[in-house]
Amino acid sequence: MYDVIIIGSGPAGLTAAIYTTRANLKTLIIAGSKWGGQLMLTTLVENYPGFPEGIQGPDLMMAMRKQAEHHGAEIVDVDFKESNFSSRPFKIIAGDKSYEGESVIIATGADNKWLGVPGEKEKIGRGVSSCAPCDAPFFRGKNTIVVGGGDSAMEEALVLTKFATSVRIVHRREEFRASKIMLDRTRQNPKMKFILNTEIIEILGKDKVEGVKLKNNKTNEVTEMSVDGIFVAIGHMPNTSAFKGIELDEQGFIVVHDHTRTNIPGVFVGGDVHDSHYKQAVTAAGFGCMAALEVERWLSSQNS
Ligand code: NAP
Repeated sequence: MYDVIIIGSGPAGLTAAIYTTRANLKTLIIAGSKWGGQLMLTTLVENYPGFPEGIQGPDLMMAMRKQAEHHGAEIVDVDFKESNFSSRPFKIIAGDKSYEGESVIIATGADNKWLGVPGEKEKIGRGVSSCAPCDAPFFRGKNTIVVGGGDSAMEEALVLTKFATSVRIVHRREEFRASKIMLDRTRQNPKMKFILNTEIIEILGKDKVEGVKLKNNKTNEVTEMSVDGIFVAIGHMPNTSAFKGIELDEQGFIVVHDHTRTNIPGVFVGGDVHDSHYKQAVTAAGFGCMAALEVERWLSSQNS
């Protein structure tokens, strides 16, 4: 029996564990077979405080993991399967075992949606990115593309204009989901160009991005373009589909009631699984800390 079971092992889950263990709560982390979250897919992280020269994403996650373990967190590298939040203790099935906890923190994160085209997967971190605030400085003086027609794409593009020589927004339609203000701001920027009714069908280059193959959806014409960086901003998918009884918003993110509480007393949430707005490692870590503090308070209130 654990005081708290944390599902997820990105910055939110591991930070939560550092706080719960230091509060003397018996803590289990269901880390997943691919533990560590989205930072395991990145290279240099320059915007996580405390590392003046930056730190490799996997190194940062390993340090957080060691810190959680150092304070006594138990970690199992198995995939979460099922939860039963209908009565306490809560039951969590992961791998081939069932675990029981007095409280739960859901920190399963969100996965970036990728294009799924040839040449993309192996170039993530080698010219393909999903985070301009993280990676834009690597594209100083380079030519870049942002894919998508929503606010995220506009935001990524605006960040990129501070560094890149050119930013082209490639969008599959003529109409945008982005808000008018974001779209206007983007259109007014002299570095920006729009390529509409167009999809990327292949990312070219041997070890890094060197170009793209584009298809015009109206004419079916296929063209090639040289480019150094591609920022994919076509939305996120929160990892929430397996949580029965937890209230989700229309995009599938967990709805937060009163700080980090979910609609089920004793089940808390932290990180990108509820945050579609900031989506940063440092904000996820902050949300993990908040969830842990709330768990501690809630458990004390139950026992008093
Ligand atoms: P979004 O609004 O759902 O937009 C996703 C865009 O990606 C759409 O234009 C969509 O095209 C395109 N897309 C989806 N799948 C694609 C694919 N396979 N290939 C090519 N294009 C694809 O997502 P978002 O931009 O991440 O925004 C999510 C929410 O966060 C929104 O509510 C947004 O307002 C909010 N947000 C706000 C801000 C801000 O206010 N500063 C910043 C970021 C996000 P279609 O239009 O053709 O479907």
